[in-house]
Amino acid sequence: MEKKEIKSLTLPELQEEMAQLGEKSFRASQMYEWMHRKLARDYEEMSNIPAAMKAKCGERYRYTALKIAAVQESAVDGTKKFLFALSDGNVVESVWMRYKHGNSVCISSQVGCRMGCRFCASTLDGLVRNLTPAEMLDQIYAITLETKERVSNVVVMGSGEPLDNYDNLLRFITLLSDENGLHISQRNITVSTCGIVPMMRRLADEKLQITLALSLHAATDEKRRELMPIANQYTLAELMACCAYYFEQTGRRITFEYSLVRHVNDSGKDAQMLASLIRGLNCHVNLIPVNPVKERNYVQSERHSVEAFAALLQKKGINVTVRREMGRDIDGACGQLRRRFLAEMKEG
Ligand code: SAH
Repeated sequence: MEKKEIKSLTLPELQEEMAQLGEKSFRASQMYEWMHRKLARDYEEMSNIPAAMKAKCGERYRYTALKIAAVQESAVDGTKKFLFALSDGNVVESVWMRYKHGNSVCISSQVGCRMGCRFCASTLDGLVRNLTPAEMLDQIYAITLETKERVSNVVVMGSGEPLDNYDNLLRFITLLSDENGLHISQRNITVSTCGIVPMMRRLADEKLQITLALSLHAATDEKRRELMPIANQYTLAELMACCAYYFEQTGRRITFEYSLVRHVNDSGKDAQMLASLIRGLNCHVNLIPVNPVKERNYVQSERHSVEAFAALLQKKGINVTVRREMGRDIDGACGQLRRRFLAEMKEG
């Protein structure tokens, strides 16, 4: 049987496990603090834990840690992109962004992705595997250690579809927002999905205080199907009903992400249709000029189209922001750094 990951256990679970090993409850708390507060990279660092207990844990559990495989820093805005090597040799990307209101980290939830969105680099080679809760936390922990600054916001918007890795995602959120860990408020955690309706409903029923972002990208089923294969499974009508349900259950306003692609979804008519589609929903629209991906021929909307699109939504009373592009000079788009790294490895 595979060893359990010690960093994926909640504090009560760890207490239970330690009790079975004959350890006192305060030892579990100490160890939890080393893992989730002091961000220890291994058992060695845990100076107040008896060597015998560390040895027992070493035998019984896996202790995950990431290695930095590459870092790129933007000369424009200080954004840092990290490529991390997992213990099985797979690599994932995370991004660190500094904003006025605090530091934000964008993490990956899977190695690769199976959703197949046409404009996205993460999905080009399909899904390799899910990330475990500890591996999702590790991205934040490693970046905190590296930058020596507190992370205040986490967005699950890197590679992967978080709702395709549901149980691990929920456990990750529990651990990340735990007061005995980094204690990042759920209100400062955003999960972005391409729109897997039954999973969104399940998430709504958990009544968490996180922000749910839905990658919409089109206002008609036909256009959305061209961009996102998931749109063949769920219609926009189902999605909108689901978003209303999410708000009803959680009281949290939905964020709609809309990547603007030149001559594909950025016309005045597109903006009109989007406005009618989301009318009446408690929401916010985030417009993202599409990041060109080498393997795809989508082109970014022109500045004036982006502005006109935003202005039309605003006129209709819709909350809208245009995402500031961070780190464009450093393979900013999802999955691009990983792809380049893997290609270079192949070439030797
Ligand atoms: N699977 C999730 C989260 C990962 S993608 C989702 O689909 O939401 C995070 C966001 O980046 C999504 O809105 C996605 O559609 C968008 N995205 C992916 N590739 C992009 C690109 N090349 N340019 C702009 N946005 C992109």
